[in-house]
Amino acid sequence: MRFSDIKGNSSIVSALRGMVDTGRIPHAMLFHENDGGGALPIVLAFLQYLYCRSRQDGDSCSECPSCNKISKLIHPDVHFIFPVAGKGSVDKPTSETFISEWRELILSKPYFFENQLYDALGLENKQGVIAVSEAKSLLDKLSLFGVEGGYRSVVVYLPEKMNIQAANTLLKMVEEPPENTVFLMITHEPEKVLKTIYSRCLFMRVLPLSREDLKDVHPEQDAEYSENADIFGDLMNALIARDLLTALETADALVDLKNREKQKSFFKFASEALRKIFLVQQGLASIADISEEESEYYSRLAGSVKRSFSRNALTYFDRAQTLLERNVNQKILFTDLVNRLYVIV
Ligand SMILES: [Zn+2]
Repeated sequence: MRFSDIKGNSSIVSALRGMVDTGRIPHAMLFHENDGGGALPIVLAFLQYLYCRSRQDGDSCSECPSCNKISKLIHPDVHFIFPVAGKGSVDKPTSETFISEWRELILSKPYFFENQLYDALGLENKQGVIAVSEAKSLLDKLSLFGVEGGYRSVVVYLPEKMNIQAANTLLKMVEEPPENTVFLMITHEPEKVLKTIYSRCLFMRVLPLSREDLKDVHPEQDAEYSENADIFGDLMNALIARDLLTALETADALVDLKNREKQKSFFKFASEALRKIFLVQQGLASIADISEEESEYYSRLAGSVKRSFSRNALTYFDRAQTLLERNVNQKILFTDLVNRLYVIV
């Protein structure tokens, strides 16, 4: 994986490139991605650049022995830790137990979803965890010198899945890192990462994929996104134009989704969109996870609705979702929702 293969996230890429170029590499970084958002490819491109023996034009060469090993995920100084669970006769599994399944997944689908990892590992609905045995085995590995004499790296996918003993063991390593060792962690829920680990990491927000990239790597998710974005866009435009009849047509569109999972997915989309509108209104667009191509869209919406709109609308969406689960008449439910939104916009 080279920097030039990374989709979007140019500012993170240039920050990582700069660290290697200046030799100022933080000993621990925490990348926050939305599930499937591609933090691992970013980490791998960084590692390939870090280890590359003939960097050129700000990227790895992809041909030297180091690049070759990183790209096959077999570099002896790069360790991967990810959540696992017992399987068959394996009693205390570690990531090592599943390393070939891990490699196979990452090499075939670098922009993978968390549940695709568990499927690939064959965990069959068991919850993956990172147990203390994992942290201990890492401690052993790091007590040895790097095999190839350079940096040693530890990639932790989902540190929030560590149990408390594992987290404390890892914390000790992050607090007093062995020389030339870099910890790269990828989280979906930074608030669940042990605070003391979080506070020792340089934090990086991996921005959601653009629509075009989403279409490329997760076509199914893109189709759902499109459908939700269309309905939400029509609804907001009609509300802002004070056009109740058109707004009510979106209520019909929601009824027409028929499938309740799809309706729930729309509610989730709408809640996130309302949160973005709220943050833009508060001048906090930078933490709203808005992709570059959508920033104008959200600025326009934020400028067209009352400052109280998002908060009140969220209450109505929550209420509608609860009622949806109680099987109330959908036509009445969605019409009522749109009417309420029309009043507060
Ligand atoms: Zn190279």
